[in-house]
Amino acid sequence: MQRQVSEIKEVILSRIVRILRDVYQESPAGISFETVYARMAFKSDPHLNELRLALERIERGEYGNCIFCKEEIQLSLLLSLPTAHFCESCAAILRNNTHTGAMYDTIHHSRSSNNNR
Ligand SMILES: [Zn+2]
Repeated sequence: MQRQVSEIKEVILSRIVRILRDVYQESPAGISFETVYARMAFKSDPHLNELRLALERIERGEYGNCIFCKEEIQLSLLLSLPTAHFCESCAAILRNNTHTGAMYDTIHHSRSSNNNR
């Protein structure tokens, strides 16, 4: 997984650089981890924060697992959405349930879901 992680890290860093450039009109000299990290340290941008937390999860070796089912999140998903907390199937369930707690209901009532059809 080491090669993929460095690939994801680059995706995250390039997104940070883009935000720094487009939103804050800053252009870091390079996109090394240290440069970018220093630039974003004092900004309270929620999007930057998400990306920074993703980098920290990588550093701690906690990155890439779904917080619901604990399975590994698909690499293709992480590359397009590096801040993803859920795997594709859990994300799909969440998308279909906008209410809080609906995840539990979906699983709990799935056995009787055909009764209304
Ligand atoms: Zn999952």
